[in-house]
Amino acid sequence: MRKYALPVLLLSVFEAVAITLWLAKGNFFYFLNFTYIGCSLALGLTLMIRNHRNARRIVQLLVGLYMLVYLGLIERENMQIEGFWYYLFSGLFTAATIHYAVAKIFGPLIFGRGWCGYACWTAMVLDYLPWKRPKTHTRKKIGWIRYLAFAASFLFVASLFLLHVKNLDHVLYVAFIVGNVCYYAAGILLAYFLKDNRAFCKYLCPVTVFLKPMSYFSLIRVKPDPEKCISCGKCTRVCPMDVNVMDPKRNRLNGTECILCGECVKECPTKAL
Ligand code: SF4
Ligand code: SF4
Ligand code: SF4
Repeated sequence: MRKYALPVLLLSVFEAVAITLWLAKGNFFYFLNFTYIGCSLALGLTLMIRNHRNARRIVQLLVGLYMLVYLGLIERENMQIEGFWYYLFSGLFTAATIHYAVAKIFGPLIFGRGWCGYACWTAMVLDYLPWKRPKTHTRKKIGWIRYLAFAASFLFVASLFLLHVKNLDHVLYVAFIVGNVCYYAAGILLAYFLKDNRAFCKYLCPVTVFLKPMSYFSLIRVKPDPEKCISCGKCTRVCPMDVNVMDPKRNRLNGTECILCGECVKECPTKAL
C-alpha cells in the first residue's frame, strides 16, 4: 500500500482545503469543487502507479475541461492570471483567487508543478502536439519573455481599474476567451517552430513567475537513488522539461521545471527514481 501514499496525501490536502473553505465560506460549491479536483488528481496518480498508459491524459482532461468549460465559460469565472489580478484588486475571495493560492502559489510547496503536468488546460491541448520530447535540452535564452507576459497581464488589469472601465465582469469574461485563444495560438506556434510541445511553458507562460520559485521547495520531488542509479542518462534524455534528472540537488539544471509527468520514472531501467 505504500506506493499509494502520494495519491492519498494529495487527496487529503485537497479534502482539507475543500472542507475548510466550505465551512469558512458557508458555500458547498467549494467542497464539491476541491473534492472533484482532488479526486481527479488522485485518480490520475493511482492510474499512473498502476502503469496505465493514458493516466496523465485522463486527469488532464478531467480537470482541464472542468476549469476551462465549466468554471471559465459557463460560470464565467476568469481563471487566468488576469482574473487573479482582477479578483485580488477587487478584494473578492473567489474560485480564481483560491485556485491560484492552492494550485500555483502555495500548493507547489507540496506538489511542485503538478498543476502543469496534470491539470492545466493550456498544456492539455499542447500535449497532443507531436513534439513530445524536445530534440535538444539546450534552452534558448528567451526565458525573460515570461516576465513581459506577467507584467502585461498585471498592467492590463490595473489599467481597467485606473480608467474606470464599466462592466468589468463582462470585460474579464471576454478577456478570458481572447486570452485563451491567444495562449493556444502562441503555444502551438512556439511548439511548431521550436519542435517542442512545452515551449510555451518554458519561455512564455506568465504563471511560471509564481510556479518556479515556489516549486523549488517542493516536498514531492523526482530524484535518483544513488545506490541504484547507473548513470545511463535515459531519464534526462526523455524529460520534456529539460530537467537534469540525474542530479538529485534542488538547484539542478531546470530543477524548477519538473511537472511530475513521470516519463523519467517509466524509462529508468533500475527503478532508481
Ligand atoms: S507552465 Fe503555464 S501553460 Fe505550461 S502547464 Fe504550467 S501553467 Fe500551464
Ligand atoms: S520527466 Fe521526470 S524530471 Fe522531467 S518533468 Fe517529467 S517527472 Fe519531472
Ligand atoms: S534512468 Fe535511472 S539509472 Fe539511468 S541515470 Fe536516470 S536515474 Fe540513473
